[in-house]
Amino acid sequence: SKAWTLTKHFDGWPKKSDFTLKLETLPEPKDGEVLLEAVFLSVDPYMRPFSKIRMNEGDVMIGTQVAKVIQSNNPAFAVGSHVVGRCGWRTHTVCDATGLVPIMEEWPEDVSLSLALGAIGMPGLTALYGIEEILELKAGETLLVNAAAGAVGSVVGQIAKIKGCRVVGSAGSDAKVAFLRELGFDRTFNYKTVGSLEDALRTAAPEGYDCFFENVGGPFYSAALEQMNDFGRVAVCGGISLYNDTTAQTGPYPHMTMIVKQLKMEGFVQGRWEHKHPEDLKRLMRWMREGRLRCREHITEGFDNMPSAFIGMLQGENIGKALVKV
Ligand code: NDP
Repeated sequence: SKAWTLTKHFDGWPKKSDFTLKLETLPEPKDGEVLLEAVFLSVDPYMRPFSKIRMNEGDVMIGTQVAKVIQSNNPAFAVGSHVVGRCGWRTHTVCDATGLVPIMEEWPEDVSLSLALGAIGMPGLTALYGIEEILELKAGETLLVNAAAGAVGSVVGQIAKIKGCRVVGSAGSDAKVAFLRELGFDRTFNYKTVGSLEDALRTAAPEGYDCFFENVGGPFYSAALEQMNDFGRVAVCGGISLYNDTTAQTGPYPHMTMIVKQLKMEGFVQGRWEHKHPEDLKRLMRWMREGRLRCREHITEGFDNMPSAFIGMLQGENIGKALVKV
């Protein structure tokens, strides 16, 4: 079996030379254990900051995959069934059941299991909890989301439309902006070509923003806060523009704006609502089956291309969820 390890902690933007492909010989599964074979692997922004917090040099890269059970000494996991597991960047894994989540029983045969890593998986749940638990978004409100053509952002905008809101989304290419329009976003812009972010944000919503789903950080974040309405709410989900910085940004952040507009801001991690994941995955699946949630994927073929898929996602190559198919 193969595994990608972190050769050296990233310094600035990850490079291919920061990763090493290793061959592993796996032990036979013991009682209670299974042997898994990866089918789809996720590449996610969190791997960049978490590699520093959670990993040592030489460790197998962290990450989630959809895997097939090919050998089982655990009655809860039948051979041939599929699971979502935190196995890291590996083609094969021997493990006990800790952290393995079976694919929901109701998963339709004609729906790709890859969606369990995207819109009907962690990123979809992130969008849902940001909207429902943090923002408590209400019909008629105006919502702003950045990194809007990505795994989380594209679902955020579509759920906000389901809830009867006006949605503004920004993304980093004209093709992405066109995709947002196809999804039903009301106003969209390419943050790389608008010139003034402030003008773009104001033109897209002259009425101001009631809610802001924040994925990016940095200058966008500061500019967006200035366009919030009084008592606006901000869900701080991510800060992808900061992840490759070698020195932490210190602002300036619009501190007075927070006070004068009486904004409410909350950071969150989707795992807080783990107890609700099964029911909410069913809800996301239902929206998808009803045609209200469109799921686009950016699939890289081949396990050997994991590093380039990851680096490409950080550079914005993906429209929708970035994945690797083994
Ligand atoms: P995406 O699918 O959105 O992929 C990342 C995208 O980020 C790229 O395609 C790129 O799109 C955009 N991007 C990269 N650099 C910048 C930049 N400097 N400024 C603006 N946009 C940039 O990833 P996800 O949907 O998986 O994640 C989106 C955000 O949500 C991340 O910040 C992530 O960390 C966070 N997250 C948080 C979770 C939580 O529980 N709190 C869970 C999951 C994700 P573009 O071309 O538009 O620049």
